Amino acid sequence: MKSIPIGEVLARFETEEEIVCCCCDQMASESFEHHFVSCPAANQMWSSFARAAGVEFLQIKDTAYKWWNATCSAKLRPLFNAITGLLLWQIWKRRNRTRHGDKMNVQEMMIEVNRNLHRLAIFRYPWLRNIPEDWPNLVHFCEGYKPILVPKVIHWKPPMEGTYKCNSDGASKGNPRQSAGGFCIRDWKGEFIFVATYDLGIRTGLEAETSAMEKGLNYCVTHNLLPVCLETDSLVLTKILNGVWEVPWSIKIQIQKIEFLRNNREVAVLHTLREGNKVADYFTNFILSFAGTENKTFQSIQDVPKEGKSY
Ligand SMILES: [Zn+2]
Repeated sequence: MKSIPIGEVLARFETEEEIVCCCCDQMASESFEHHFVSCPAANQMWSSFARAAGVEFLQIKDTAYKWWNATCSAKLRPLFNAITGLLLWQIWKRRNRTRHGDKMNVQEMMIEVNRNLHRLAIFRYPWLRNIPEDWPNLVHFCEGYKPILVPKVIHWKPPMEGTYKCNSDGASKGNPRQSAGGFCIRDWKGEFIFVATYDLGIRTGLEAETSAMEKGLNYCVTHNLLPVCLETDSLVLTKILNGVWEVPWSIKIQIQKIEFLRNNREVAVLHTLREGNKVADYFTNFILSFAGTENKTFQSIQDVPKEGKSY
């Protein structure tokens, strides 16, 4: 944080003598502490978001620690972890706008942080409906959330007669870290046609999922295994490919490749739970647990390891 080009840092490098905060009329020196904590707009932001969540606001380090360690439901944890960064970013954005002649009031800052928290909640919990948009209600909603558990046995289901199914899966040991992906193509009788696994290098989970699907589809198109149903346990990828969500820049190129391969062909994209995607999952983990293993393909069921066949 000390490398942020705020007034006190710039003054230290002697680019200017003293820089006064442009976000208030207190004529205070633009120090890190003033700008991000005691400047009225910043203070108001911290206080109002903290108040709604029952987190006390004192000073940044302490507050960040409190957000990260606050007792809250598991659903709220990712939001609490993100809020310090979102608030700091918003305060910094306003400062830069003000410095370059534009304006942003506290209300607008709140709306933007609120919107980002809501987006984060939707991204993390795509299956939850009616997630409230405003922060106090969002906190309330997440705290009171109780999942309705309906036991359901999930199996892999064969596709319609005369069609194929390609299950793909990708996984990463971090975001990003060593990753792997694989796909398994079966016909409508459930017969194995082709299995491949790849070491995908350093990638995020979503990048690995996308790459695995693209490789699977590419194989189906090249070998005329069509119509095909692409099945993945990534709900995010399914939503992106079905046009419900925007394409994140990190996977834009891979998505374009998939769209190109899908164009004018009978290719459906479906979501399945992990239990329905066990073969692809098995092979992906097979590569991931033996990092450095070369890519593997299996053309016949006899070559597939026993554990892989049992799904
Ligand atoms: Zn100020």
